Amino acid sequence: MDLGISGKRALVTASSKGLGRGCAEALAEAGVDLVLNARGEEALSATAQAIRDAHGVEVTVLAADIVSEEGRAAVLEAAGQVDILVTNAGGPPPGVWSDWSRDDFIAALEANMLTPIALMQAMLPGMMEKGWGRVVNITSQSVKAPIPALGLSNSARAGLTGFVAGTSRQVAQHGVTINNLLPGAHDTDRIDALDRAAANTQGTSLEDVRAAKFKTIPVRRYGTAAEFGRTCAFLCSQHAGYIVGQNILADGGGINATL
Ligand code: NAP
Repeated sequence: MDLGISGKRALVTASSKGLGRGCAEALAEAGVDLVLNARGEEALSATAQAIRDAHGVEVTVLAADIVSEEGRAAVLEAAGQVDILVTNAGGPPPGVWSDWSRDDFIAALEANMLTPIALMQAMLPGMMEKGWGRVVNITSQSVKAPIPALGLSNSARAGLTGFVAGTSRQVAQHGVTINNLLPGAHDTDRIDALDRAAANTQGTSLEDVRAAKFKTIPVRRYGTAAEFGRTCAFLCSQHAGYIVGQNILADGGGINATL
């Protein structure tokens, strides 16, 4: 399917690896020029080169912490106005509700609520003026069903979801759509680290930890960054212009809910 977005420009934050990279690759496959960001320069440059080689699109990189005000300003300056914005950042650490301090909550809000909001506030006016724009926020399945150890994520992402619910309905008349894409378990460095930690704690093997988790997912496997990325690219396509303010689960059926 031709997504109808060849020649457009996208900013994908936190995109040298994992789900952000998956989104960047799928947009490049659709002919979209990219601005990519991550903190580590080496992986970011390698990803950018791999995407240029594979898809022949223009890729600009800016190594910076997207959660810091200075980092974000540098990324926005490098990007200029874009047609497509995919927001992403690292998730907060796991823990126990009684241990989290005000500072822990502020850090989670900065990363997973206030950063994507700031990015949208920077890009939406230009998109509205042009009469076309697409925003996809990478959030989490924890928006639909809380993950007990990830209370910081549950809280911060709920705030972002509320902002998107209201704002998406205000900008849609200008040809701009905002949606959230909610990953369930996907095979990335993050889940690998979590599984290894679980294997250590439980004194079992990585394979056993994974096998137990696969049993809880109807498709019996983790998702891939490539399929997640292509779902994101579809939400950024011409064809998705009537999808507004939605929270799309990509979780292999893991959340057991009717709606
Ligand atoms: P990942 O494989 O660890 O990749 C994270 C990417 O983001 C890397 O490129 C990393 O590069 C970059 N990054 C992290 N913090 C950054 C920052 N402050 N500024 C700029 N770049 C940053 O993670 P992932 O699995 O793709 O997860 C992406 C998001 O989806 C996270 O918020 C995660 O909580 C959420 N999520 C993931 C899953 C899953 O199963 N994978 C499930 C639910 C939700 P640098 O480290 O070099 O900056």
